[in-house]
Amino acid sequence: MKYDVIVIGGGASGLMAAYSAASHAAAAGNPLRVCVLEKMPRPGRKIMITGKGRCNFTNVKDWSAFSAHIRAGAQFVRPAWRSFPPERVIEFFESAGMPTVVERGDRAFPASYHSTDVVDTLVRECLGVGVIIQTEAEVAGVEISRLASLARNDRAEAAGAGEGSSDLENAILPKHFCNGSESPSPAGAASSNFTIHLSDGTTHNAKKLIIATGGLSYPGTGSTGDGFTWAKAIGHTVTPLFPSLTALVPKGYKTEASAAQFKHHIPRETPLSEYGTQLCGVSLKNIGVNLLIQGTVTDEEFGDIDFTDGGIEGPIGFQLSRKAVKAMVNGSKVAMTLDLKPGVPLTDLTVRIKELWEEIGRDRRSQHMREKERCRVLLGKLLPRELIPGFISAHPEIITLERRGRADTKVWVNLVSIAKALKEWRFDLEGFVGWERAVVTAGGVSTDEIVPKTMASRLVPGLCFCGEALDLDADTGGYNLQLAFCTGWLAGQSVV
Ligand SMILES: Cc1cc2nc3c(=O)[nH]c(=O)nc-3n(C[C@H](O)[C@H](O)[C@H](O)COP(=O)(O)OP(=O)(O)OC[C@H]3O[C@@H](n4cnc5c(N)ncnc54)[C@H](O)[C@@H]3O)c2cc1C
Repeated sequence: MKYDVIVIGGGASGLMAAYSAASHAAAAGNPLRVCVLEKMPRPGRKIMITGKGRCNFTNVKDWSAFSAHIRAGAQFVRPAWRSFPPERVIEFFESAGMPTVVERGDRAFPASYHSTDVVDTLVRECLGVGVIIQTEAEVAGVEISRLASLARNDRAEAAGAGEGSSDLENAILPKHFCNGSESPSPAGAASSNFTIHLSDGTTHNAKKLIIATGGLSYPGTGSTGDGFTWAKAIGHTVTPLFPSLTALVPKGYKTEASAAQFKHHIPRETPLSEYGTQLCGVSLKNIGVNLLIQGTVTDEEFGDIDFTDGGIEGPIGFQLSRKAVKAMVNGSKVAMTLDLKPGVPLTDLTVRIKELWEEIGRDRRSQHMREKERCRVLLGKLLPRELIPGFISAHPEIITLERRGRADTKVWVNLVSIAKALKEWRFDLEGFVGWERAVVTAGGVSTDEIVPKTMASRLVPGLCFCGEALDLDADTGGYNLQLAFCTGWLAGQSVV
């Protein structure tokens, strides 16, 4: 089939790119044939699982507050964000019949809190402007015709970079389809610049190509990083890829035998140790969290974390995960400390703990209790109950045993140690949960090689990238989908 525009990937960015291309072309009185090729049986599989099925589809902060949450590519993405800011994303969905709500933290959701509404709306809008969505259409290779490669060579030579052109002449790509010399499209004569090979052996041709294949995270949704392979083969730089917004695994949290098999990447299904089992399921609110890299505090945050079957997650855990993962991958020692009483200085906390201990001692109900039991009562006044077993396991120093004779032992509860442990509970990190459960992919097609105002490749005319395939990522809170939507919107507009 021949198309004017082919979009590879029917995720958030690809669907928006296709809608944008088709609607801008129609508005200009020059309708185009636009096709989305999606390998999964249904488009938007990843959108379905976003926001725990509720889909936090954008964040309505203004640019200065929004951009503070972008971890890579903030300056690059600014023109795209301005071309399709959060208010316009909301307007798009509302005018398409999907009511929205904005919650705490400026996070926007469909009013139904069903992510299916977001996918259905996108698909309906695409079909409404004539976009063809072909599912179960796995792209296996992308071939750039002579027309495009010559144009690129001319540009490269004009820029004095002629030696690099041979890469492009064979600008064919992965999964081992022909190369340019085997199957050239006659320069100037071809009506298509791109030949797209599907894994079922069929091909499509297009004048313009948008690669919207996402990253590597949650491969079960179809995002398996295929676009990175093609981008590299074309000559684009792909910056180092690593999971972001993922669970961080403390030492001793998973069974040692299984954790030791993996260097840093510890699959989520690795069994929990006894310590991990004690902590898993506990959520901590309004605590202080410090990240230490090579012993130096690099980040100080305040907020909530969750202990899960993966490790440490939750808003603050995720927020720190990007830096932590990158540091671990680079071979640094990484640790986290939790301050469970962030509002109280250590000295005041120590005094308060001593007072509580005396109160417990005076309480008739504790008269017959052993020291260890009294210690639990004390901890119950300081911590959520479900955290106590894990806290005691992590801090054996809070209870010491003094041997006074053969059969005479005395148990001491170290109140100062309890105060210190509450202020600085340390977790040395040994790894992280990988692509199988990371929310986003950090790294991607280098934004230095993409024109920010169009999302067009600086290397290959007619080619655009958008969404998570680019070296762009942000915190949780609707930022990542906003980046996918606005880069998709701009890519679609610019190919027209
Ligand atoms: C569990 C989870 C929760 C999240 N929650 C939120 C949230 O609430 N808010 C938020 O802003 N962000 C959230 N995100 C992040 C957000 O979903 C992504 O950043 C966004 O979906 C990226 O969109 P994309 O279009 O670039 O890529 P994707 O959504 O990954 O889409 C890429 C598409 O390309 C297709 N594809 C890949 N290779 C091929 C090929 N060879 N041939 C054909 N098709 C191909 C894939 O099947 C896929 O459909 C979440 C992510 C996860 C994993």
